Amino acid sequence: MSFEGLPKGAGNKQLSWRDSIYFWEILRGMGVTIGHLIHNIFHTEEMPTMQYPEEKRVYSDRFRGRHRLMQREDGSPRCVACQMCSTVCPADCISIDSAEHPDPKIEKYPETFVIDLLRCVYCGLCEEACPCDAIRLDTGIYEIAADSREKFVVDKDFLLNNKTQGTR
Ligand code: SF4
Ligand code: SF4
Repeated sequence: MSFEGLPKGAGNKQLSWRDSIYFWEILRGMGVTIGHLIHNIFHTEEMPTMQYPEEKRVYSDRFRGRHRLMQREDGSPRCVACQMCSTVCPADCISIDSAEHPDPKIEKYPETFVIDLLRCVYCGLCEEACPCDAIRLDTGIYEIAADSREKFVVDKDFLLNNKTQGTR
């Protein structure tokens, strides 16, 4: 290997015996790591790590979270199955089957009301479009996990019982 043309001293530095075995540098690196480890063990309150799930991050009041369907006083859905939310939804993830309501004062009700949470982009347009304040994205629930795709397709009963998170 030729060092011709390089500044004087570059490339031909002779390592001392101590440097050439890298042992002391490895020890120095381990010393720094162990120092941080011991410090963190005794000062856990200074660490930025959040102890999830015991500790949960508090999100802004503007954070939406998972949907819920609002209920009438008798527990039935406030929704009148007008399809405004499913029409406006840009992700096409709401599907509603409407049926005649037994109460003549109410025209229709949702026989089925399904949202595919994996397709939803949480834009809030369904909530904006609803004329009855029947659907809201105010639960604050962000823990949306499941072990199969089917479990993300939530139905009317699930949405009617989707309570707001206690931390909000
Ligand atoms: S939040 Fe947006 S994407 Fe999700 S269901 Fe409502 S309208 Fe559709
Ligand atoms: S949730 Fe609101 S917008 Fe959607 S179908 Fe029911 S009443 Fe209409």
